[in-house]
Amino acid sequence: MNKNGMVTEIHTKIRKEPFTANYELLGKELGRGKFAVVKKCTEKATGKQYAAKFLRKRRKGADCRMDIFNEIAVLELAKANPYVVGLHEVYETNSEIILVLECAAGGEIFHQCVADNDEAFTEKDVIRLAKQILNGVAFLHRNSVVHLDLKPQNILLTSARPLGDIRIVDFGLSRTMDKITEVREILGTPEYVAPEILNYEPISTATDMWSIGVLIYVMLTGESPFLGDDKQETFLNISQVNIDYSQDTFEGISSLAVDFIKSLLVKNPRKRATAEECLNHPWLNPHSHPHLHTMSACSLDEPEMSQSESEPESPDPSPE
Ligand code: ADP
Ligand code: MG
Repeated sequence: MNKNGMVTEIHTKIRKEPFTANYELLGKELGRGKFAVVKKCTEKATGKQYAAKFLRKRRKGADCRMDIFNEIAVLELAKANPYVVGLHEVYETNSEIILVLECAAGGEIFHQCVADNDEAFTEKDVIRLAKQILNGVAFLHRNSVVHLDLKPQNILLTSARPLGDIRIVDFGLSRTMDKITEVREILGTPEYVAPEILNYEPISTATDMWSIGVLIYVMLTGESPFLGDDKQETFLNISQVNIDYSQDTFEGISSLAVDFIKSLLVKNPRKRATAEECLNHPWLNPHSHPHLHTMSACSLDEPEMSQSESEPESPDPSPE
C-alpha cells in the first residue's frame, strides 16, 4: 500500500549482483542517519568515486522498500537539475537497497555553519550558495515535490576548499504535493520544521521555504534561531516565531539579508516568499549591493544550467 504523496514508480534498473563485484569500498564513512550509512567507493570499471548509501529495507519491523523507491523516484525526477545529487546506480540485497550517488566530496555545509571565523561562510559565500539551493528547490517545487527535510546536514558541497557548489541530498521524507492528503506521520528535524507541521496543518511547498529561512539564518550567523533547551521550548519558539534579529546577532551582515530571512520566517504559509520570489529578492541581485557580488562569484553562479533554466547575469554590475 502506498502512503500519501509517495511516488513509487521507478525507471532505474535494480541490480541484484553483489555491489562489491562492481565497486571497491574505501572504508571511509561519509556520514550516517537513522536508517542509512553512506560510504565512499570506487567503481572498478571506471575508477570514478561515488557515495554509496546503504538503506535498510526493514525498519522497526516494517517493510520500507516503498519509502526507498519514493526516494529513488524523486532522484530520477530531479536528474535534470545540477543542484540535486546525481543517482548513478541502484543495488538490492536481502536486507538493503544501495543507492550509488554522485560523491559530494566537500561534505555537509553544517561544518561551516558551526565553524569559527576563518572557516565560516562569508555573506558573499552564502549569497552564491543560497541561489544554488533556491534554484534546486524551485525545480523541485515546479515539479510538485516538497523535500521536507532541508537542513545543513542534507545540503552538501562538491568541495569545501575552495568552496564548491551545493548538492541537495536525502529525499527520504520527500512527497509529491498533488498526492498528499495526510501528513501527520511526517516530521522533520525539530529546529527546522515549520509551524504548520507542529499544528498538523496541511503542508505545501511553503513548508520547505520556512526551512530555507532557518537554513540561511544559520549559515549567516552560526546560530540556530529557534533552538531551545529542550524540544518543547524549540517548538514553542517556532509556533511563536520567537526570533532574534538584533544588531548583535547580525553584526556585519547586510540589512537586505535580514529582510530576506524575514520574508521566509512568516507563520502563515500563504504569506511566505516562494522559491521564485526569493530568487528575485534584491539580496540575491548584484545590482542591489555590488560589493557583495564580485565578478568571480558571479561567474561561478550557475555552472551548467540548460538554457531554459539560466538567467544570465551581467558580469559587471554597475552601481545604481
Ligand atoms: P539519512 O536519510 O540517513 O539522513 P542522508 O542521505 O542524509 O541519509 O545521508 C547521511 C549523511 O551521509 C549526509 O548527511 C552526508 O553527511 C553523507 N552523504 C549523503 N550523501 C552523500 C553524498 N552523495 N556524498 C557525500 N556524502 C554524502
Ligand atoms: Mg539526512
